[in-house]
Amino acid sequence: MSEKLFNGDEGLYVHFPFCRQKCRYCAFYSVPGTPDELRADIDAYIDALGYEMQEFSERNPDFMPKTIYIGGGTPSLMNSRQFENLYLALDVNFTLDHVKEFTFEVNPGMMPSDAMLDMMQKKGVTRLSVGTQSFVDSELQWMGRIHNAKESIEAIDTAQLFQFGLSCDLIYSLPGQTEDDIKRSLDILIDKKVKHISAYTLIIEKGTPVGDELLNSNIPNDDEREGELFDFVSEYLRKNGYDHYEVSSFALIENDENGKPIDNRAMHNLNYWRHGNYAGFGASAYGHFPGYHTRNCADYKQYTMQLDAGTLPTATERLTLHQTVEEIVMVGLRSSEGIDTDIISRKYGINPMLGANGLFFDQLIEDGYAKRDNKRYYLTPKGFAICDFILRKLEF
Ligand code: SF4
Repeated sequence: MSEKLFNGDEGLYVHFPFCRQKCRYCAFYSVPGTPDELRADIDAYIDALGYEMQEFSERNPDFMPKTIYIGGGTPSLMNSRQFENLYLALDVNFTLDHVKEFTFEVNPGMMPSDAMLDMMQKKGVTRLSVGTQSFVDSELQWMGRIHNAKESIEAIDTAQLFQFGLSCDLIYSLPGQTEDDIKRSLDILIDKKVKHISAYTLIIEKGTPVGDELLNSNIPNDDEREGELFDFVSEYLRKNGYDHYEVSSFALIENDENGKPIDNRAMHNLNYWRHGNYAGFGASAYGHFPGYHTRNCADYKQYTMQLDAGTLPTATERLTLHQTVEEIVMVGLRSSEGIDTDIISRKYGINPMLGANGLFFDQLIEDGYAKRDNKRYYLTPKGFAICDFILRKLEF
């Protein structure tokens, strides 16, 4: 089977692993420090990103990103000069004419200056993903965030003033949190007509201050309560005009002046759930290509050193056809687009919904957790609430 590797629908992710301070719940790879303390390391890291991109683009001259996502960590810790250097690395190594969505993550406590936002917009950034997390100061303090609710609201106002596309993150299911507490944060996002919301339940990770506090306490890990809050967030946002289109993602439903629907879903993330190709650059970044994955070492110093020395800090993992199909199902069922068994069968010769999985889905459909539309299988918002359970039950 000969197949063109890239078709111009690719995603490009850049990981920026530096933060002002570590949040109390965070188990991601990120290194804390002030912009001054980290300046030399960030400069060297951005140079290394340039080397990695150059090496990749030489091997993959057809790779043409449709979306770019600069995530972290806290990318808004970089100054204008560092952003310009990063942009230059992207621009010299890739054709950027086809980019439809260019997202930059910002922390409301490290909001770029107006001058920097202006420059970023001129360079093609179309969308800000703002780590608001909550609009209740006591919750933000408990999470160890560096910002308060007022700064989060100001960050939203600034992003909207600049007419960036806007996504806000929310973390809920904090210990003792009620529906009313969550509603306080949701109401602000709804009032501000934020176009995209990513709402996650708090993940309690061992080894983080929050994890150690909760796992050593008598507070039980209440999955049932978490499920109730998940349903509450989903219902409340849907009632207020949002499409719950992926387990943790909501897009504002709206039309343009001609009455045509505007797609406020995250294009870059849709590519993940559609099992599209994407390249990942930076420490701990992950790439996905037909038949294989790449993963970079998760230590920014080693990452920088290896690229300086001309070696790639990247491990490659090959996938069998079965593993590929399993992965398509696992990521596809997270979004309301679901999976099309006709397309999968034609491409890979495997129908993942035959046998036990098909019977299991018949039951899910009967119980309102899933739907089938011809050969397309997808979960309902009720099914999203137990998505991990459903995925664990599937057999491959
Ligand atoms: S800002 Fe994000 S990546 Fe950085 S410590 Fe907080 S949660 Fe982790």
